[in-house]
Amino acid sequence: MSKFQPDQHGYYGQFGGAFIPELLYPNVKELEDNYVTIIQSEAFQQEYKNLLQHYVGRPSPLYLAERLSEKYGATIYLKREDLNHTGAHKVNNTIGQILIAKHLGKTKILAETGAGQHGVATATVCALMGLECIVFMGETDIERQAPNVARMKMLGAKVVPATSGSKTLKDATNEAIRYWIQHPETYYLIGSVVGPHPYPDMVARLQAVISEEMKIQLKEQTGSENPDAIIACVGGGSNAAGAFYHYMEDEDVALIAVEAAGLGVHSGESAATSQLGEVGVIHGSKTILMQDDYGQIVEPYSISAGLDYPGVGPLHAFLFDSKRAAFMNATDEEALEAAFELTRLEGIIPALETAHALAVLPKLKGYEGKTLVINLSGRGDKDLATYSKHMNKIIE
Ligand SMILES: *Cc1c(COP(=O)(O)O)cnc(C)c1O
Repeated sequence: MSKFQPDQHGYYGQFGGAFIPELLYPNVKELEDNYVTIIQSEAFQQEYKNLLQHYVGRPSPLYLAERLSEKYGATIYLKREDLNHTGAHKVNNTIGQILIAKHLGKTKILAETGAGQHGVATATVCALMGLECIVFMGETDIERQAPNVARMKMLGAKVVPATSGSKTLKDATNEAIRYWIQHPETYYLIGSVVGPHPYPDMVARLQAVISEEMKIQLKEQTGSENPDAIIACVGGGSNAAGAFYHYMEDEDVALIAVEAAGLGVHSGESAATSQLGEVGVIHGSKTILMQDDYGQIVEPYSISAGLDYPGVGPLHAFLFDSKRAAFMNATDEEALEAAFELTRLEGIIPALETAHALAVLPKLKGYEGKTLVINLSGRGDKDLATYSKHMNKIIE
């Protein structure tokens, strides 16, 4: 078995596992016992592939960005997850998990959300399937992300404010878990490759369609399945896991994960987990996370709401620790510049999260003439207010 697959207890090397309250054990065990069988079943594959094609719009194009390539002296392809229904890669996962929930006979879906992107992707598939949807969201985030709250409500989801702690993502997660304990009949739909086993592996398998398509598309367009490097941004790590998945064993392909450095890695306002974090347990999984001397979680910061998570999934902790992936980072300012650059060179407005992946292009060494794929995880419509605010600083 590949060392990049978790063992039977959900460990990638020393990272992973399932650190959960005993009351949740039956739920997690039920999922663990069934997820692989369900995903591999013909019925699931048929529904999943059908929805990805006709509802999401897959395969997403692999686009040769000629003007960007010219600027950096490399052959740069963009994997266009921004063109998916709902505007990002997140829907690949929510479509897959809603089908798994249905196979398990669940009728009520529970999720937590920070910026609201995962909440919207979850509310979308619940509407599609006619299932009840309840989304926990920090009170502060509800105020900051009004358009996504409106979307979720329009889609029929119940949005519950989390009023404890800093009233942001980690508090929403805590309250969602508390709700799950009290309502074990619900299905908890996690939005990234985080949480207790089997979630990281399950979400990685559902996002793996990204690299499955990439191999076919690269072969068609370049004659080879393998590029020299794949670059993706990392919040929890799901778009990167999907973009890396079928390449992890191909050691000739460099995997480059990009974290958000906020105002600077050592500024105290950052989300560069691999640089600042240490081994600990967060949201049910042993991984690398930002914590203080007492093991309390340090509040992360990034201009991009999708990247300010204080941990990374256990697969990424393992890719970092084993040096299979190179971890780089980009500040708010570098990401903003990269977003405006892509927009002006290619007519594509990327999500702020994605802009971090683009921002390492000027920093790469030794890639002249090489083939790179950047996973364009999402579109920038949701970030227009932030872009407008910085427009004058960046464009003369
Ligand atoms: C949520 C989000 C991310 C970060 O999540 P991952 O699980 O690390 O992929 C990145 N890009 C976009 C567009 C997002 O919406």
